[in-house]
Amino acid sequence: MIYFIGAGPGAADLITVRGKELLEKADMIIYAGSLVNPALLDYAKPECEIMNSAVMTLEEVIAAMVPAAQEGKLVVRLHTGDPSVYGAHREQMDLLKSYNLDFEVVPGVSSFCAAAASLKAEYTLPEVSQSVIITRMEGRTGVPPKQKIKDYAKHHATMVIFLSAGMLEKLQKELISGGYGADEPAAIVYKASWPDEKVLHCTVGTIAETAAANNVKNLALITVGGFLGSAYERSELYNPTFETGYRKADASKLQIKPVTKTHHKPGK
Ligand code: SAH
Repeated sequence: MIYFIGAGPGAADLITVRGKELLEKADMIIYAGSLVNPALLDYAKPECEIMNSAVMTLEEVIAAMVPAAQEGKLVVRLHTGDPSVYGAHREQMDLLKSYNLDFEVVPGVSSFCAAAASLKAEYTLPEVSQSVIITRMEGRTGVPPKQKIKDYAKHHATMVIFLSAGMLEKLQKELISGGYGADEPAAIVYKASWPDEKVLHCTVGTIAETAAANNVKNLALITVGGFLGSAYERSELYNPTFETGYRKADASKLQIKPVTKTHHKPGK
């Protein structure tokens, strides 16, 4: 059997219990050496064969997995964060299907969730943003038409930008050309959940200079949006005046007023 496992964002104890138990049983582990915490490999049996996919091609990864799985070995493909986010995961699953090999996927904590934890922030705030856009700058890997940063910036939803720490001047220009004001809030989270994590608050217009001043060149997420500000409405779900299937409405219990009325800045 082959298991694709999300290793989590970095800290070794942010893998799931299921993922850890499979690492302990694995006969072969192929891990993404660029971002998976090597401490996770300590869970492996001494005889487990361990390979680093950072120095391998897709062909080599498949050539290692297929015979091992055919011999009945337990194979783990350990991806950083969650495999479904920029994991180059689908192409592996499709090739395994072509060999009639069975596999399962064990989800992991994606770095965008770890970044929110580091920021002590909530991406979806009432009246501020009810959507999270996970995206990236166009680089050596292209992005399809209508999916450029400036297209998404128009929505003023929460944005979490992966794989773009090397292009921050261009990123902030695209955000501004899509309608963000240079003074709107942004934050850089470098190596969320690792011991050398950095959390840097800035504005859309100062993303590049903030990263440069703090020597952040890679392994970072850029977050943008009003969720980083102070204004939002309280939730309906926990509002005494709002009835749910679990609780009757009772306006007499209302004590906490909304924090501030949010004013959406249309930007430029
Ligand atoms: N599957 C992974 C993403 C892999 S793409 C996930 O779910 O998180 C690699 C990119 O993810 C990096 O360039 C960086 O932008 C981001 N990333 C991964 N781990 C990170 C972390 N701990 N802190 C900040 N960004 C991280």
